[in-house]
Amino acid sequence: MQDLDKIVAEATAAFDAVADPAELEQVKARYLGRQGALTERLKTLGKLAPEERRELGARINAAKDRIEAALAARRQALAGAKLEARLAEEALDVTLPGRGLARGGLHPASRTLERIERLFRSAGFDVADGPEIETDFHNFTALNTPEDHPARSMHDTFYVAGAKPGQVLLRTHTSPIQIRYMQAHVARHRHLPTMPEIRIIAPGRVYRVDSDATHSPMFHQVEGLWVGEDVSFADLKGVLTDFLRNFYEDDSVRTRFRPSFFPFTEPSAEVDMTCVFCHGTGCRVCGQTGWLEVAGSGEVHPNVLRHCGIDPERYIGFAFGMGPDRMTMLRYGIDDLRLFYEGDLRFLQQFV
Ligand SMILES: [Zn+2]
Repeated sequence: MQDLDKIVAEATAAFDAVADPAELEQVKARYLGRQGALTERLKTLGKLAPEERRELGARINAAKDRIEAALAARRQALAGAKLEARLAEEALDVTLPGRGLARGGLHPASRTLERIERLFRSAGFDVADGPEIETDFHNFTALNTPEDHPARSMHDTFYVAGAKPGQVLLRTHTSPIQIRYMQAHVARHRHLPTMPEIRIIAPGRVYRVDSDATHSPMFHQVEGLWVGEDVSFADLKGVLTDFLRNFYEDDSVRTRFRPSFFPFTEPSAEVDMTCVFCHGTGCRVCGQTGWLEVAGSGEVHPNVLRHCGIDPERYIGFAFGMGPDRMTMLRYGIDDLRLFYEGDLRFLQQFV
């Protein structure tokens, strides 16, 4: 039975020629399967004499064992090769430098707020803080805003759902910080014959129903308050002018005060400064006027002082309010406020 040895040799060669495990199983069927070469041989045994049948059966089984051993060896070799290939493919170069953490940076609006705080601290002002969810009293009533003032309407102000109608809202300015500060200040110094001067700025987020290229429903405000026995409009003008010169790093900046109206100050004034782009000669940014409107200001209304327990006959207060978002736009030449809040890294990374 020479052909059994031939079948074994053929099978071994066929296994070795295969590189893919799935293909190997198909080749296996050609030799060991139901239609395989060895099975065909076993089928012929029935026609043989018992003596011959036993001898040939043993030899066929021996051949089958050898083929299975060759198959197992090839299976193992292929599995080993596959593992090697995977290891090579997923190799990790431990000598590469690490990826590291990306360096964060301050948002341009935060940079401006920090800068404003630093400049006012150096002028002797404290930085005060307060809640963003406010009562109607602190946001409007204490600030002498009449019941029918448009700012109090649902159209302009975000009221908190679930609270009593018109009672709790997202603050529309940082002025309620001033109210809370004055109340606490009065309580703290009640025992003194003269109340120490109040000199604070109140920076923070404020909310109004408003959204376009220059208005966002959430924006920043910085207000200032100066209350004492001997404070004047001239002091306020000096502080604001100094501040603007320092903020824009331009000593040629001039300011002017134009009469205006706010419920919480009387008299009130808009503060303009000479345009930082054209220095007063007129350009696109300032609408050819040479001036930019940068703040509102005024003498604190006696009613506001009274609401906080301060005697308006004895003390005088000055207040101002600025938009740090617009100041950031002017300082960096940004023309769309919405860029501030879209979180686009290509925009934000320019300020890091
Ligand atoms: Zn200009």
